[in-house]
Amino acid sequence: MSFSTLGLSAELLRAIAEKGYSEPTPIQSQAIPVILEGRDILGAAQTGTGKTAGFTLPLLQRLNTLPRNEGRRVIRALILTPTRELAAQVEESVATYGKYLSLKSLVIFGGVNINPQIKALHNGVDILVATPGRLLDHVEQRTLDLSKVEILVLDEADRMLDMGFIRDIRKVLALLPRKRQNLLFSATFSSEIKKLADGLLNAPVLVEVARLNTAAELISQVIHPVDRDRKRELLSSLINTHDWKQVLVFMRTKHGANRLCEQLGQDGISAAAIHGNKSQGARTRALADFKQGSVRVLVATDIAARGLDIDQLPHVVNYELPNIPEDYVHRIGRTGRAGNEGEALSLVCVDEHEFLRDIERLIKREIPKVVVAGYEPNPLLKAQPIPNGRGSHRGNAPAQARRNGNNSARPSGQRPRTQDSKPGRGAQADGNRSAKDVTQRPAHPAVTRPRGEREQPAIFKRR
Ligand code: AMP
Repeated sequence: MSFSTLGLSAELLRAIAEKGYSEPTPIQSQAIPVILEGRDILGAAQTGTGKTAGFTLPLLQRLNTLPRNEGRRVIRALILTPTRELAAQVEESVATYGKYLSLKSLVIFGGVNINPQIKALHNGVDILVATPGRLLDHVEQRTLDLSKVEILVLDEADRMLDMGFIRDIRKVLALLPRKRQNLLFSATFSSEIKKLADGLLNAPVLVEVARLNTAAELISQVIHPVDRDRKRELLSSLINTHDWKQVLVFMRTKHGANRLCEQLGQDGISAAAIHGNKSQGARTRALADFKQGSVRVLVATDIAARGLDIDQLPHVVNYELPNIPEDYVHRIGRTGRAGNEGEALSLVCVDEHEFLRDIERLIKREIPKVVVAGYEPNPLLKAQPIPNGRGSHRGNAPAQARRNGNNSARPSGQRPRTQDSKPGRGAQADGNRSAKDVTQRPAHPAVTRPRGEREQPAIFKRR
């Protein structure tokens, strides 16, 4: 299979060749022809599959070939993403793949001055990439017009719902023309996503693929049991002993991320933090420094790290396990991208044993435990509750209730995030997912489904 057989124009093929892609990824070969036909898509795909090019390339081609109004440019394609980083990356892809077309794109997100965005919108844009909150700020200020949108993309829709954007999304949908093409991408399919897809998509084609690295095989996972107050020492020692040059470290809280950054600095290891309290400029700078190697460790919270595309990131460390098991899958998926090998290791103390059990239940496998010599956990230490999360302490009614098969202790069995889950307006803590949601296949009556079953997240498929 080559890109030229997918029906893409010479301008796009040239941009693809310059990017160095020799053949389409599975999601690209499935999605591109369908999108070019003008059909709606329900894409079951995570980052790392090549999905961005999968929807960007045909979107560019359609906008380029469909007739457009004479005169001022109007927004013809709207791409919504959950985070600023992802919005910026998607727009970068639009600009890269569309460099030989005369379409204009713009990215807008919160946390930065709105005025340059207003000016750029006023000058005319064909493709707008946006996070929902800032988009609605513009709607309120009447600085953009969505009435001519021909193609809508919801990227990482599950993340947007997790982050409490559902109301914002519904408000945006109400502003779009009825007749349009809809592309919805989501890594998981909770009942909320299915409801959204049912209301949004018109006879969609289901496109479902594994990651580029299709591979538990490519991501080696290990747990290092360690006492809570020796994690920092162990992390510094691992980085120094193995001489890791680029490590992404995950924390549950913004405060924890800042503190760890300082501590690593004291240990002589350059580190930067990326989380919701940092200004957009600081986040962009931290990411750039990390990518180019002047910072060795990037300490991130789950939401800030969402959608980060760092090529060939060899090491991901869970300094703290996430309280939402599915975030573990997203975290470790930052490594082992595009077919490269990656290593995900987790420093787990006694407080997190329950989180670990939930993760292993979700991924349907036990992660090997390796005690690092000199860091043996003290067997006498008792678990302490984790603030706003679930320690393995007694008296956690919702957790206990869930284990008993009774979800009523917390509405719909929700587990709150312990970190910066408030990216903008309307954000709520919402961890309303379960192993079932992840492994469930999207069910849509009008969906055309390629053959083949997928029983668990693709990256955990066994050979
Ligand atoms: P995405 O899933 O869109 O975040 O893409 C994941 C990574 O795969 C990005 O670094 C892309 O640049 C890369 N990529 C996308 N398409 C291809 C392709 N056809 N061949 C090789 N790499 C690709």
